Amino acid sequence: MLVNLLDFDLAGLTDFCKSLGEKGFRATQLFRWIHQRGASEFSQMTDLAKSLREKLPTVATITGLKVISQHESTDGTIKWLFDVGNGNAIESVYIPESDRATLCVSSQAGCAVACRFCSTGHQGFSRNLSTGEIIAQLWFAEHYLKQKLGRTDRIISNVVMMGMGEPLQNYNALVPALKTMLDDHGYGLSRRRVTVSTSGVVPMIDRLAQDCPVSLAVSLHAPNNDLRSHLVPINIKYPLQELLTSCNSYLKSAPRDFITIEYCMLDGVNDTDDHARQLIDLLVKQSSTRLSCKINLIPFNPFPASGLLCSSKERVASFAALLNQAGVITTVRKTRGDDIDAACGQLAGEVVDRTKIQSRLAKRATIPIQIASSTGASNAHELPPEEAYSQ
Ligand code: SAH
Ligand code: SF4
Repeated sequence: MLVNLLDFDLAGLTDFCKSLGEKGFRATQLFRWIHQRGASEFSQMTDLAKSLREKLPTVATITGLKVISQHESTDGTIKWLFDVGNGNAIESVYIPESDRATLCVSSQAGCAVACRFCSTGHQGFSRNLSTGEIIAQLWFAEHYLKQKLGRTDRIISNVVMMGMGEPLQNYNALVPALKTMLDDHGYGLSRRRVTVSTSGVVPMIDRLAQDCPVSLAVSLHAPNNDLRSHLVPINIKYPLQELLTSCNSYLKSAPRDFITIEYCMLDGVNDTDDHARQLIDLLVKQSSTRLSCKINLIPFNPFPASGLLCSSKERVASFAALLNQAGVITTVRKTRGDDIDAACGQLAGEVVDRTKIQSRLAKRATIPIQIASSTGASNAHELPPEEAYSQ
């Protein structure tokens, strides 16, 4: 079986080269050919010793993902659908802006967290992506765009792990991919410009702080445990108090002095003035959960199976105003690539649901409008949230 060199960060590639009896510096040469120059053939690597160039194809490959489709939006956003085998597909989105270019990368085929408002979550979980499949999204996009735009300088300046999947539930594959993004011999991205977005896998937030601290975004979506457990079922396992404690310790090693809080605005569900006040209480007033953060309000991208609607523009503006008045910097996320279904939460790909989440979600109660506050009694749940998070 040939080894795919996209599966290695530089340390891994060095070990691999040593196992072939080669000097460590050969790995750096190889790594630069692959990630900086986009090489996929060993014969291209003219500065490698001929003996190594001949040996490599007998033991290794550089194999990217098969592109199923590419859609370009009128605003310049490009969405790719990649085949990851066995009927599964994942998506990546390129978002150019005046001062940066961001690639939104997937980490899993499907997702087991099953958030109510997320179309990936509604598809169920199929499998983790390998390091090679995660980095191949950047490898492909960077080199494809270089060619398309006729540029030799770096194109993608930022990576957000906000595509399909929960990156911190695929930790072992994620970390070498992040290291490759950061490596000066790889993509040379700054830690501040690589963001892991998580629904709140607390132990893995703690490990990421040790292993590879990058910018962190936390998908909060609710200001109290009752509502959050409905919307983001992993909250049952790792409730708000624990999550915010872990965010606070993450800040000690993070490249930024704040954490981004993502909050998807759902009409009548989590968007009232009372919810904003609870959020202020949680993130500003209570000393046990206070957090240095910026809040990003995401207009909900509706899809029929969710049974949810996006809050009105006016509601989003009032909610943001309350938070800003309380001193929490709050912005509203611009949606990009709407015409090609590339906005947050619309990445659906195609996933073979091995967790049967779709049928379980269908049995779940609809979200009660106006859940009681954190201190009040919670609404009756027809199906205990635990059942929804039993993977
Ligand atoms: N699993 C990770 C990263 C992928 S989701 C996480 O949950 O953080 C990236 C972001 O898109 C998350 O903040 C998620 O809550 C948000 N999102 C999911 N579905 C959405 C939808 N339908 N509309 C708007 N945002 C959505
Ligand atoms: Fe998974 Fe994130 Fe979607 Fe939740 S929002 S189901 S964690 S991809």
